[in-house]
Amino acid sequence: MKALLIYPEYPETFWNFRFALRFIAKKAAYPPLDLLTVAAMMPDLSSTPGPSWELIRFADYAALSIQLSRGCPYDCEFCNITSLFGRVPRLKSKEQIIAELDRLYRSGWRGDVFFADDNFIGHQAKVKRDILPAIIAWMQRRKYPFVFNSQVPVNLADDPELMELMTRAGFTCVFVGIESPDDACLVECSKTPNRNRDLLASVYKIQQSGLEVQGGFIVGFDHDSHQSLTGHPVYIGERHCHRYGRTAQRSLRHAPVRAVDGRRPIASGHDR
Ligand code: SF4
Repeated sequence: MKALLIYPEYPETFWNFRFALRFIAKKAAYPPLDLLTVAAMMPDLSSTPGPSWELIRFADYAALSIQLSRGCPYDCEFCNITSLFGRVPRLKSKEQIIAELDRLYRSGWRGDVFFADDNFIGHQAKVKRDILPAIIAWMQRRKYPFVFNSQVPVNLADDPELMELMTRAGFTCVFVGIESPDDACLVECSKTPNRNRDLLASVYKIQQSGLEVQGGFIVGFDHDSHQSLTGHPVYIGERHCHRYGRTAQRSLRHAPVRAVDGRRPIASGHDR
């Protein structure tokens, strides 16, 4: 298999952290994972190679990334994850993940590690039964050298056992796509895990388990109202999430966007 790897120049958004990185004397938030491994192109996770960490200078980066799973059972219309990776989450084995953590440890890294999964709890049962207990045991053995964060849907709040396992494993922060507090917008984008719930109460539950919540919001839905744009997101984000970001609604290539007038909203691109 031949692969052409491209590290694109990112547009100036909050997420390239260009100005913030100067404060911590780093060149980038995360290393370009695809330059370290062709992992993202391998359909079979069981044969995915681990990153070649010796190719980078750890001192240049604020955090390093590893990946447990691909795929997501949901199908949010602004997101291309299910088109790229399917709706049945596939996971590496606990042995693979522990081997990757060991390699990172032996390479000398200590500090933040981002699980670059689009939905870390996509396969909730396996994450609870196999993966997190193995990570907890490894972290205890190694005396907690890493601090983990990842991305999860808000229904993490419905599973206290899962939240406890994550905090015991060393997770301190999760990015949660809140998108909009307006139900019409959630219906519009098929964000099913966010519907029929008190989003604020869910954010509180995750925080009370010991996890910082980074809230993600989208503006530009066809059903956005003055209230959803200026009221609730500011309320939830500024007062209740430790950090939050807003993303303009844009369609990703391959995302199943269904705008009410049949047009795709703005050009492809995403910064989550
Ligand atoms: S936005 Fe998140 S929950 Fe929705 S399909 Fe994408 S990965 Fe899954």
